[in-house]
Amino acid sequence: MAAPKVAVVGAGIVGLSTALCIAETCPSCSVTVLSDQFSPNTTSDVAAGMLIPHTYPGTPIHVQKQWFKETFTYLFAISNSAEASEAGIHLVSGYQVFKNAPKEELPFWSDVVLGFRPMSRAELQKFPQHRFGQAFTTLKCDCPPYLLWLEKRLKATGVQMYTRKVADLWELHSEYNVVVNCAGIGAHQLVGDEKLFPVRGQVLKVHAPWVKNFIRDGDGLTYIYPGIHRVTLGGTRENGSWSLSPDPGATKDIFDRCCSLEPSLRGAQDIKVKVGLRPSRQSVRLQREVLSQAGVKLPVVHNYGHGAGGFSMHRGTAKEAADLVGECVAALQGSSSRAKL
Ligand code: FAD
Repeated sequence: MAAPKVAVVGAGIVGLSTALCIAETCPSCSVTVLSDQFSPNTTSDVAAGMLIPHTYPGTPIHVQKQWFKETFTYLFAISNSAEASEAGIHLVSGYQVFKNAPKEELPFWSDVVLGFRPMSRAELQKFPQHRFGQAFTTLKCDCPPYLLWLEKRLKATGVQMYTRKVADLWELHSEYNVVVNCAGIGAHQLVGDEKLFPVRGQVLKVHAPWVKNFIRDGDGLTYIYPGIHRVTLGGTRENGSWSLSPDPGATKDIFDRCCSLEPSLRGAQDIKVKVGLRPSRQSVRLQREVLSQAGVKLPVVHNYGHGAGGFSMHRGTAKEAADLVGECVAALQGSSSRAKL
């Protein structure tokens, strides 16, 4: 058969990284990204981009660990290259602090990040309201630069990118051999997935260049994540809310919570408020499906539902999705050579 045509729907972190993995693992494929929005207008642009995993209750821990490890290894290599600043990837050290010691003192990702250890008493003096803490070094993506870097890589590999809203995956069956669904929260409407729900998140992006270490409250709600240019202050988690309007009450609350962890933030300037909808599910949907109408078939690979962990897991899930695309292509090639016999 001629070069298999693959359409990837979605241009957030999941769509772009999946398209790149497909282009790398299937050089004979012609890959196209179709999306109604590109950076800077995706949920992925709003994210803090920290590599600290959240747990998906419906996915085995060893699988989550593998996704995280692959993502960490991939980004660590970029952070250690001449492209680090353009790609917006850097190492950052800091603290996760708890008011009470957590049940699980060693999270599953503790041996993937660097130098994970309990905080010393002296370090904990910085956080008088907290009694326990973990210190480690992880990676952070500055999200819009990383998305642009991925787009640049895709163009260099010959991947086409078009602005297009897809109303139904089936509409692509006459133009493409395989379709990959990376629509994030858009998959709720696109494929009618009732298990997918938004968890609204509001963050502040501020100018506070003196803040060099990350600080995260163990409850996951309050965090200070320094990036290359701006510091992200978070946050909120509102299950089921579809509102993209900033809430001024939440802005004040986030700022106050972050200042109680890092009082010097009172001097932060140029505060910008951002809102995004985390595409949440019990587990990421990473799955093959074959759509069929009147005897015509369209293989689909789903890769969406990354919730609060799209950056932490993107390369691992992209690799798995690219493998599933490879299986679809092999099945198509098998059936086309059988048809010729
Ligand atoms: P998106 O970025 O939403 O991309 C979906 C794409 O699909 C978009 O381009 C959209 O236009 C397109 N699309 C949708 N429907 C259609 C359609 N019908 N036709 C065509 N195109 C369509 N994760 C971390 O790992 N670390 C963090 O520190 C972190 N912080 C976060 C902070 C906040 C406030 C929020 C909201 C999220 C955070 N996340 C974090 C989570 C992370 O942002 C998401 O998991 C990730 O962005 C999901 O990426 P995605 O590509 O699936 O979705």
